[in-house]
Amino acid sequence: MVDAQSEMKSVLLKMKEDTLSEIKRALKSGANTTTGEPSGDIYDQASSERDRELDLLLGDREREKLANIEEALLRIQDGEYGICEECEEEIPLGRLKVLPFARYCVKCKSDIEKQQAQTKRFEEDRVYREIALGEEEEM
Ligand SMILES: [Zn+2]
Repeated sequence: MVDAQSEMKSVLLKMKEDTLSEIKRALKSGANTTTGEPSGDIYDQASSERDRELDLLLGDREREKLANIEEALLRIQDGEYGICEECEEEIPLGRLKVLPFARYCVKCKSDIEKQQAQTKRFEEDRVYREIALGEEEEM
C-alpha cells in the first residue's frame, strides 16, 4: 500500500503541475491580448485585479480539479488515501490509476450513486409539489 501511495502521489503531483501550467498558459495568453505594455508598477498595482482575473480564468473545472488534487495529496499525507471512506477497505490501485480522486471502492461508489439518484428523484418530486402549491396560492 505504501508503494501504491507513493506512486499515486507522483501521479497527483504531476497532475497538479500540468493543471497549474495550463492555468499559467491561459493567463499568459489572456494577458497578451488585454494588456499592451506591462511594467512592474502596473503589475504591482493590479495584483489584486490580476487575482480576480485568475479567478475568472480558472474555470470551475480547473478549480475543482486543483481542489481534488490537493485533497487527495492531503489524504496521502494523512495515510487515508486509497482507503474507501465507506467500508474502509483498500481501493485497488488499478481503480486509483483510472480515478486518482476515488474516495470509495467500486461497490460503495455504486451504492452511493444509487442512493443519490433516489435522493435526487425525491427532491425533484418535492420541487414539483412546491411549484404546484405556489401556483395554487397565486390563483
Ligand atoms: Zn467501500
